[in-house]
Amino acid sequence: MIYDVCRAVLAGVVWGIAAQAAIAESPTYTAADFEHVRKLDSHVHANTEDHHFLDIARRDGFELLSINVDYPDFPKLAVQARVAHELQAEDPQHFHFLTTFSMKGFGSPTWTTDTIRHIDSEVASGAVGVKVWKNVGMVERDAQHHLIFLDNPGFDGLMSHLEAERIPLVAHQAEPKNCWLPLDQMTTENDRSYFRDHPEYYMYLHPQMPSYESLMAHRDNFVAHHPRLIFIGAHLASLEWSVDEIAKFFDKFPNATADLAARMTQVQYQSNKDRDKVRQFFIKYQDRLQYGSDLTEDPPDPHARAQNPPADGTPFETEADKFWRSDWLYLATGESQHIDAIKADVKGLALPKAVVDKIYYTNAHWVFWKLPRE
Ligand SMILES: [Zn+2]
Repeated sequence: MIYDVCRAVLAGVVWGIAAQAAIAESPTYTAADFEHVRKLDSHVHANTEDHHFLDIARRDGFELLSINVDYPDFPKLAVQARVAHELQAEDPQHFHFLTTFSMKGFGSPTWTTDTIRHIDSEVASGAVGVKVWKNVGMVERDAQHHLIFLDNPGFDGLMSHLEAERIPLVAHQAEPKNCWLPLDQMTTENDRSYFRDHPEYYMYLHPQMPSYESLMAHRDNFVAHHPRLIFIGAHLASLEWSVDEIAKFFDKFPNATADLAARMTQVQYQSNKDRDKVRQFFIKYQDRLQYGSDLTEDPPDPHARAQNPPADGTPFETEADKFWRSDWLYLATGESQHIDAIKADVKGLALPKAVVDKIYYTNAHWVFWKLPRE
């Protein structure tokens, strides 16, 4: 018996070593492969009907999943929806979109039925899911002036509908943990400049607002109450500061995946401390992560606060191409590059081709189109 146990343990160890060696030696892509590998950016915001975003996506081998959001710096919801419909009609192969909903009237007798009707009509027009934004938890208040959190029972009717109809929900809840820290303690320049420019969202300045931990607890409570919901945590589920925390979240909620949008520098900050740990995280959770950038093209306006990267006169296509290639170099190759946002050189993770293919394409198709994994 003891002999059998020892043999089983030994076999496990040998298998583990063999698997590690196979992963270490598995083929990887090069920088030059970037344009030729099929990819999907599962988190962008195309807010104008010009063709710049689609043009560069086609040239770089990307499909776009554009997310409508109830964000005051974006065009109105009806305008975002019209742009999404137009771009999808123009190139349904490369352009996909998510709808969203307004919190206006939340708690009134007709909010749930009106919102479901709106979402179903957008789904009929091609939307592949729904976005809920951080205004839930951080901005919207009920009649008693209490903040409305995602686990508020007022969402139950809507969320049961999404569960039953298998309509995915992308949830941007809370903010990066940096948002609760003084500027000089933030880990990345991009967070520092965003919160300096958006003091209304910079929670360090608003100590009367909920803590990071409390917002995460409301979100987790919500996910736990909807175990059949296809749940995508935007921005690494706001756990970007620790791959260990993301791993715990995935282990706890089998129905959850996450996108990488606008949080790559946080991952790079961690891999510069322990590259092997971060690489193993991506390999272990290769079925649970979707590539996303948060690239945002707004109508031309030098003061457009929502443009991402921030508008500085560089054509958007140039910015998008540069951004995408930098992320590719980091995830797909072992090459080093300088990352301004963390003021450091960062060596790429050189993830195996099979892992890159999932993160850049197959996982999103599995999540949003319920297609089988290849
Ligand atoms: Zn976004």
